[in-house]
This record gives sequence, C-alpha cells and structure tokens, in this order.
Amino acid sequence: MAATASEQERRVLEAVPSGLYIGGEWRDATGGGRLGVEDPSTGETIHEIADGQAQDADAALAAAHEAFRTWRHTPPRERSDVLRRAYDLITERTDDLALLMTLEMGKPIAESKAEIAYGANFLRWYAEEAVRIDGRFTPNETGVGRVLTMRQPVGPCVFITPWNFPLAMGTRKIGPALAAGCTVVVKPAKQTPLSMLALAQVLEEAGLPGGVVNVLTAKSSGEVMEPLIKDPRTRKLSFTGSTEVGRKLMEQASEQVLRVSMELGGNAPFLVFADADLDKVVEGALVAKMRNGGEACTSANRFHVHESIAGAFAEKLAAAIGDLKVGRGTEPDVKVGPLIDESQRETVEELVDDATSKGARVATGGSRLDGGGYFFQPTVLADVPDDARLLREEIFGPVAPITTFSSDEEAVQKANATEYGLVAYVYTQDVDRAFRVIEELETGMVGFNQGMVSNAGAPFGGVKQSGFGREGGPEGLHEYLETKYVAMNVGVPPT
Ligand code: NAP
Repeated sequence: MAATASEQERRVLEAVPSGLYIGGEWRDATGGGRLGVEDPSTGETIHEIADGQAQDADAALAAAHEAFRTWRHTPPRERSDVLRRAYDLITERTDDLALLMTLEMGKPIAESKAEIAYGANFLRWYAEEAVRIDGRFTPNETGVGRVLTMRQPVGPCVFITPWNFPLAMGTRKIGPALAAGCTVVVKPAKQTPLSMLALAQVLEEAGLPGGVVNVLTAKSSGEVMEPLIKDPRTRKLSFTGSTEVGRKLMEQASEQVLRVSMELGGNAPFLVFADADLDKVVEGALVAKMRNGGEACTSANRFHVHESIAGAFAEKLAAAIGDLKVGRGTEPDVKVGPLIDESQRETVEELVDDATSKGARVATGGSRLDGGGYFFQPTVLADVPDDARLLREEIFGPVAPITTFSSDEEAVQKANATEYGLVAYVYTQDVDRAFRVIEELETGMVGFNQGMVSNAGAPFGGVKQSGFGREGGPEGLHEYLETKYVAMNVGVPPT
C-alpha cells in the first residue's frame, strides 16, 4: 500500500515550517533536537519538527503572558476580524491542508476536508461571538444597590491536543480563547503536529499579533508541560486526550488550583430499538463507527440492539462495513485509512482476539492487513459476550461489536455500565421512548436518530470520566471568561 510521494505531497510538506512558533517567530528547539513525523499508511518519516525543551516551553509561556497585556484590550471587533480572516484563509487552502492532514494522520482526503471545514468553523463561529461578550446590570432584590457583572478573559492558557483530529481539536479551543481575549500555548500530539504548525502560519498571515498563539512541539510531553501547568502565569489548562493522561494533568493542575477543562475518552453506546428503521440505522452506524476509522472519542464503541432485530442488523452492518475500501487516504474511493501507529493496531487486535476467544462471532473482517502501514480490516463482531474487554475499553479502531437487550430498562442499564460518559446514540421512531431513554443516559451528548453530534454551535463534552467543560457554542466561550461581580451602592430605595 506504500505510494511514492507526488509533487503535491512534497510541496505541501515543504511548506510546513519545522520550528517552534514562539512570540511570533519560528525558531529551533534549545539544543537543536528534531523529531520525525510518520505517514501511518507507509510507516515512513515524512517530515522533521523541533523537539521543544522545558526552556522553550518557558519562553512560549512568557510570550503568551506578555501578549495577554495587549490582546485582552484589543477591541473585540479586531479580535473578531483576525479569526474571520483565518477562517477564510483555511477555507481557501482546504485542498492543501487536507492533504497535509491525511499525510500525517492517515484519514481519507474526504474526511480531512470535512475536518478542515469543521475545524475552521470554530474560528468563524467565535469571530461572531467575540463582539457579543456581555455582562448584566440588575437591581438588588431589596431595591437598594445594583448588581453589575462583567466578563473578563481568564488569561494565558495552555492547550494539549490529541492526534485524531489534528486541526479541529486545536481550533475548538483557540477560537473561543482568542475571542475572549486570552492568549495561548498549544502543544499538539507528536504524531500529528503539522496541521497545528500550518494553523500557526495561517493565524500569522491573518494578522494575529506575535505571542497570542504559541506552538510548542516536543517529544517528552510530560517533562515539557508539567512546569507550565504548575506555573502561576498559566491561568487555564484545556486538555483533549485520554482519561489516563487527563487524570495525571488534573493532579498537576491542583497545585495552583488551576482552572481546567478535560475532553477525555469515550465508550459510546449505540442503542437500536425494535421499531427503528434499519436502513437509516446502518447509515448512522457507519458514520458513528467508521468516521475517522473509529479513532474518535465519539466513535460508537458498542452496539446494543433489541434481540428481535440483532441478527438482521448484524447482517446489514457487516455487508456495509465489509464493502468499505481500505487504503492510503490519498487514494480515490478509500473510506478507511490506517490506524495511527503499530501500538494502536496491537491494541485493536488484542481487543478483537479477546472477544472472539470468549465466543464473539466475526461477521466481517477481524484481522490486520499485511504490507506497509498500520491497516486493520473494518470488522463487525456479533454475539459479543458481556465480559469482552472491548465493551468496557475504548477500541479506537474500525471494529463494531454487537450485543443484545430485551427491554428498554436493560438497554439503559447496559448503556450506563461504564465509567465514561461522553456520547450515546439512540435509534427509535417512538419519541416518547426516545426521551424516556435519553433522560436516563449518563452522557454529555446524545445523537437521536443520527450518528454524529459535532457542531461548532453546540456544547461538546462529557460527564463521568469523559471529563468536564464544554467546547463549541456559547458554553465554549464561557470556558475562557471569568465573571467579576461589582456590588454597587447606587439606586433609589423604595418609598
Ligand atoms: P493521549 O495519549 O492522552 O495524548 C493526548 C495529548 O497529551 C498528546 O498531545 C500527548 O502528547 C499529550 N500527553 C501525553 N502524556 C502527557 C503528559 N504526561 N503530560 C503532558 N502531555 C501529555 O491521547 P491520544 O492517544 O493522543 O488521543 C486519543 C484519546 O483522546 C482518546 O482517549 C480519545 O477518546 C480522546 N479524545 C477525546 C476527545 C473529546 O473531546 N472528549 C476528542 C478527541 C480525542 P504526545 O503526543 O507527545 O504523547
């Protein structure tokens, strides 16, 4: 499956800077260390980036701290204009940015384009919000005195993002932060730093002043980021990644009682009730399961299907999933790219082997694909027993396990039997049932007869060990604003 790099690929890669972006300048890492970025569809190194050190992290935070003094007072309309220009530039460059994303992350070009549109939209959405930050002025309940509230930017923020959505996980934080008047140090995942570096270029071109956004790439994330999280100049940490790492970072953040948002792992149940329209369910299931090759926190991790239709559903889903073309994301008609690396492929393989050894039946797929790159067959497992690990653990791969339920109560009980609580999907044509079930689900989001919930105008986020805080919508902006209350000794007392 290896392919020789085309001219376009070379051009797109050469255009990405390889340095750290600090205080509006591109520079090498202290000590000059470099770090390779792989194409997961070939396993070949396609680019080298700077291996940032603790001193570089300190310089990035110093730049964000300094820039905050002016950015917070930059007129909202100017902040808005920068965001809007960045949106326009990203949109104009969709083809190149999508190719870059596919090269570093592996997803099919059509999906990279969809992420570019989704990611850019956070900049447009928050450009529109930047000029609508409000407060309130109300009479005290006694009639004497007034309550005034104002919203102010939280301050310099530290962002840590994962590899699965290399652009959107950054813009979902950067858009609202800049709109609010905050400044940023962002550290992308080491597997996929290129889209974030390209975003920094775009922001610079859009007129963002130096120091407002700083991009730090590093191999030793823990060592480089811990001092920033404990530094009093940092006023907020927003993390998207695994629950395991999130837990560690919360511990570090507790030292200075740092304001924190955590967008963590998921284990999404996909519930199919007996009255659902099976063709529409399969359509939604393909999106919920196979988008991003299953490497999404919102990925349907387990299909709980009413026992009366489970056989028919498994057959239809296996036919649809078995038909998906697997390959390098740059090739035409490819619907499923490689997994991000060998370690992720081994995890998926172990989870499938565990389920089949306990009695699950392979309806399609079931194993790795040999050759270059980290490919795994799109897989459907039917009759998955309750003790299979993949019902409890995040799969993060193109594997759809199916189990059954016999009553609405059992469906809800199975859906909630996890420490995660990001998203659930509910398929039924009975609206009363839907709402009875939806109200009982312990998740931050629900897809009702649809397999995707992501939307710049809606509050994305989880409960339980999927984290807290919301990204998108007005809620996403509030994450970057403090409310200051002023007790005002004014007003006319009642006569
Ligand atoms: P991860 O291993 O937790 O890594 C996420 C980020 O944290 C990366 O930038 C990583 O850097 C960094 N990191 C790792 N250890 C660190 C440490 N000790 N200190 C500071 N930073 C550290 O997660 P991932 O494998 O990249 O992403 C997959 C996970 O993200 C899944 O669990 C998925 O569900 C979750 N996710 C959640 C959402 C959501 O919105 N809820 C969205 C997307 C993904 P390095 O790359 O250098 O290790």
